[in-house]
Amino acid sequence: MPEHVVIIGSGPAGWTAAVYAARANLNPIVFEGAVSEDNRLNGTLPLGQLALTTEVENFPGWPAGDLSAYLKSALDEEHQWLADIHQKEGCSGPELMHLMRQQAKNFGTKIITDDITEVDFSSRPFKMKSAGGEEIEAHSVIIATGASANYLGLESEERYKNNGVSACAVCDGALPRFRNSPLVVVGGGDSAVEEADYLSKYASTVYLIHRRDELRASKIMADRAKNNPKIDIQWNTQVDEVFGDETNGLTGVRLKSTVGESDRELDASGMFVAIGHTPNTKFLGGQVEMNDKGYITWTVPFRTNTSVEGVFAAGDVSDDYYRQACTAAGTGCMAALDAERWLAAQGL
Ligand code: NAP
Repeated sequence: MPEHVVIIGSGPAGWTAAVYAARANLNPIVFEGAVSEDNRLNGTLPLGQLALTTEVENFPGWPAGDLSAYLKSALDEEHQWLADIHQKEGCSGPELMHLMRQQAKNFGTKIITDDITEVDFSSRPFKMKSAGGEEIEAHSVIIATGASANYLGLESEERYKNNGVSACAVCDGALPRFRNSPLVVVGGGDSAVEEADYLSKYASTVYLIHRRDELRASKIMADRAKNNPKIDIQWNTQVDEVFGDETNGLTGVRLKSTVGESDRELDASGMFVAIGHTPNTKFLGGQVEMNDKGYITWTVPFRTNTSVEGVFAAGDVSDDYYRQACTAAGTGCMAALDAERWLAAQGL
């Protein structure tokens, strides 16, 4: 018997879709991804990008800091007791994701820790295969596979991945090799600033390498970088070579000026790349319409419908504009409701 709905992906979009689909009695199955070295290197481990971050400061209802004090100030006299049952700090990304996963599970979601590697959307029910050999059919599918970190694409960068080059400060920043030595972060957006700020706890100096003379990051984040004495912003520069050796891994980088000044070299024990993302859509084999950057296109305004009837897309895999945890969760909810209504219209 085909499933009602299969959800592929396990970030905020996937789990929110699962919560809604489960509560609609659609018995959703979530393929959350495999725990593998390949997925670790590609940034596609279960629980999505939030699992690779620290504090979540902008997810509604989860303020950073002392949640109990926040609740006390927000609640009237009669409801003060609610604050007493929340004796904890705000929420970290991994915590938030585990809570979402558990919430989906509580409503009966079936979770499979495996990657969908092949889909056949040419006829219904849709057919899918997983890396572990699972074959599954479903009347509807919600794609919520998110996006993964980009790298610079240098051959020398590839050589030192796992040995000085990383795209995740939270995963790797505390390693001994990165302590008390200079580190490089590449990028000028919120992610780069967040990584630099996090790494400044361990490093002697964090060089933030940005190709322009103005950060793309939001003002609050940009100010955080500028006011952190351990962050040294290298404006108008680009890493064009990574140095290192067998024994020590990465030992430094070469900076090329983007405004015609001379090249420079920096000693560093690590380089963290934070230059944006690519949507995880390869496994779809082009069967769903995508935009020029490879993000899945919504074919009906304000609906999560894709070019294949019965297939819906939510979260960063279909969003190259907002890319927030709360927008991903919101579109995950929309996708589940869209799938539910579509299934009902088919009499399924
Ligand atoms: P982003 O905003 O797209 O920024 C990417 C940065 O990398 C840009 O500064 C870009 O430079 C630079 N870049 C791109 N390709 C490059 C290359 N080949 N070489 C050198 N530099 C390159 O990506 P993001 O920082 O990952 O943020 C994505 C979204 O997540 C944003 O909406 C952001 O607000 C959000 N986010 C929020 C938080 C938070 O609120 N705490 C944290 C992380 C991310 P240019 O500026 O010159 O284009």
